[in-house]
Amino acid sequence: MTTDIKKIREEFPILNSRIGDRPLVYFDNTATSQTPQEVVESIAHLYEHTKANVHRGVHTLSQEATDLQEHTRRRVCEYINASGIEEIIFTRGTTEAINLVAASYGGAFFRDGDEVILTVMEHHANIVPWQLLQARHNIRLRVVDIDDEGNLDIEQYKSLFNERTVFASFCHISNVLGTVNPVKEMIAFAHSKGVPVLVDGAQASPHLKIDVRDLDADFYAFSSHKMYGPTGVGVLYGRRELLEKMPPWQGGGEMIKHVSFEKTTFADLPFKFEAGTPDFIDIAAFAKALDFIEKTGLDNIRAHEEDLLEYCTAEMMKIPGMRIFGTAPGKAAVISFLVGDIHPYDLGLLLDKMGIAVRTGHHCAQPLMDRFGIPGTVRASFAVYNTREEVDTFITALKRVISMF
Ligand code: PMP
Repeated sequence: MTTDIKKIREEFPILNSRIGDRPLVYFDNTATSQTPQEVVESIAHLYEHTKANVHRGVHTLSQEATDLQEHTRRRVCEYINASGIEEIIFTRGTTEAINLVAASYGGAFFRDGDEVILTVMEHHANIVPWQLLQARHNIRLRVVDIDDEGNLDIEQYKSLFNERTVFASFCHISNVLGTVNPVKEMIAFAHSKGVPVLVDGAQASPHLKIDVRDLDADFYAFSSHKMYGPTGVGVLYGRRELLEKMPPWQGGGEMIKHVSFEKTTFADLPFKFEAGTPDFIDIAAFAKALDFIEKTGLDNIRAHEEDLLEYCTAEMMKIPGMRIFGTAPGKAAVISFLVGDIHPYDLGLLLDKMGIAVRTGHHCAQPLMDRFGIPGTVRASFAVYNTREEVDTFITALKRVISMF
């Protein structure tokens, strides 16, 4: 495995960066992962050779650009086992995908008094869009709690369903705790009550095989930039029957069949939900990031990350005063922690001086921070290119920083 990782690292020139006089240790992969050279080069190549607006021209370049974008749509469709390309909508990211569903589905179909089930471990991207809807409809958000390890309280989840429940939306993997939620079981339960489900897959898609048909998800959202891909691209998978009955959420070019001042008709799926010029260069390059994941193998990625998680956790637990938030069995490779009463921001700042990139703060999950009664954490998270040697560097640096307080 070590030699493979060495080879993989060669594909990520940014990993050779130095922060001051220290080599970079990049442990902020939950926020965004790095991008292999092949993907970076494909973006430059597209700008040099194939930049033309998609879906508009008969000219050759426009058709080539369109083909490349639509190739990615087919790749994504296969990748998540959707039943057709009309179920794959390109967005700017997970956030936009969730906003689309909340505004379009919620805006059209929710009524005053309706209830939406979320969990306490949601990213703000899966909280605020539902709250924005409350300006239009007096809906109530019901929130599933966790235990102290970070496992969702599934019995409470089930008990929250009642005749007013119209929707459930929850993350597949928590970006703070690393908890992998039993989403298949949760979806099956929601469906037994006739309730559709959105899964926020931002943290699952880089680590797990996603099969939307096996999960039976109604909506599944994720972002390219967390999957070794370019920024500015996300995907909303939606079940065709639901997408068909949902109204468009943004109006503009590309999403129409015919426009007149008297009456406008809308394009077929998926274009009905893709108003304006998409980020067609990055969408095209996203296919190369999927190639990278498939070539590396999700099983290999997961096994390597689990090894780092286990090793790093064991080393961290030897440090007096260490508190790790999120210890659910089978968790993903994310370690959120605090040491004694040292402020996470101070820890993060000093670790950066030693070349180590970790994230500090509330991680866009303030309700979860409130649940633990803390202002924030430091978060180290791993990707396939990280190594045990980097973990050693991190642990040494962490001990040094702690000794300064
Ligand atoms: N949900 C989760 C669980 C996340 O971790 C993130 C990104 N931190 C998002 C949603 C939002 O993703 P994006 O910023 O790419 O839209």
